[in-house]
Amino acid sequence: MDSFNRVNKIIVRRNLSRLRFLVQGGFALFCLYAGYRFYFFYLWAVGRCDLYVPRPPSVEGFLPISGLVGLKRLLLTGVYDKIHPAGLTIFLAALIIAFLLRKGFCGWICPVGFTSNLAERIGLKLKSLWRPPLLLDYQLLALKYLLLAFFAFLILFKMDIRALEAFNRSSYNLVVDAKMLLFFIDPSRMTMWVIGFLVIISFFMRNFWCHYLCPYGALLGLLALMSPVRVKRNSEACIDCKKCEKVCPSSIPVASRQSINSPECIGCLECVAVCPPEKCLTLNLPGGRTVNPFLLPGAVLAVFMVCWAVAVLTGHWQNDIPLETLQKFYRMSENLAHP
Ligand code: SF4
Ligand code: SF4
Ligand code: SF4
Repeated sequence: MDSFNRVNKIIVRRNLSRLRFLVQGGFALFCLYAGYRFYFFYLWAVGRCDLYVPRPPSVEGFLPISGLVGLKRLLLTGVYDKIHPAGLTIFLAALIIAFLLRKGFCGWICPVGFTSNLAERIGLKLKSLWRPPLLLDYQLLALKYLLLAFFAFLILFKMDIRALEAFNRSSYNLVVDAKMLLFFIDPSRMTMWVIGFLVIISFFMRNFWCHYLCPYGALLGLLALMSPVRVKRNSEACIDCKKCEKVCPSSIPVASRQSINSPECIGCLECVAVCPPEKCLTLNLPGGRTVNPFLLPGAVLAVFMVCWAVAVLTGHWQNDIPLETLQKFYRMSENLAHP
């Protein structure tokens, strides 16, 4: 049994991190491909290209605010968003994953998280990463919760059903995906400064955007506090090597915790993969039952794919807005402002 556990540990160590890289990279490549197709759809819609490329619904995954508005509208009226149904589906999938499987969406799926992890890996290689003192870290962490509180206040408290319906039917909502595209392909000077700052600082401060600024991640982190799965540390087996803390993308002091139930834990399991003793860091269910760490990514992907399949099969993935309507409003998109 001991040799079986040893072999199992070696398999986990060799493959878990690699698997995460492949899964995240796969989603990131898919998003790039979807963005590329959406760009050509946009060019066709605004009359700058004759080649028609169907609009990929998955680009709506980059509209989490629209997802939050759609979720509130769904809860109040029972009506699924018909303008950005894929966006609401992806948002719901991320929430379900957080509720059941920690911030698995951040750790295994989100392409922005992947980009941030790439910068982190480069920072680790260059030894340029700097860990802020605890007090500064807590102050910076507060930023994403303040942003989340701001959006929650605006959408959950200030918008009544009439305001939700008005936003949903607005021309701006119809073209918000095109606005997002324009944000990246035709950035203002201010946007370039902000993106440049975020890219550069990510080589010096671990996962700067995800860790300190992303309100989406903050929301998922709060839901993840209810998640039944978590990493646990057996202090008797721990040799205090601190390898877990070196690799943790969320800078969690794993070596001094018994159980990791932090809203910052993205369920990446990098700590489990590097931990040298066989039964020191493990993935656990309630009641202390240890499970194979591969179960977490498997379940994250399964929940995500089931949400996608249900949405496709029930007609809640692709919107049915006539192409002529999209053409008409996309042509005005550069001049449409937030309602
Ligand atoms: S924190 Fe935000 S950007 Fe980062 S991985 Fe999570 S959802 Fe994506
Ligand atoms: S990597 Fe494992 S053994 Fe090393 S400090 Fe962390 S929990 Fe302890
Ligand atoms: S505690 Fe472990 S699973 Fe959680 S974020 Fe850190 S390395 Fe990943």
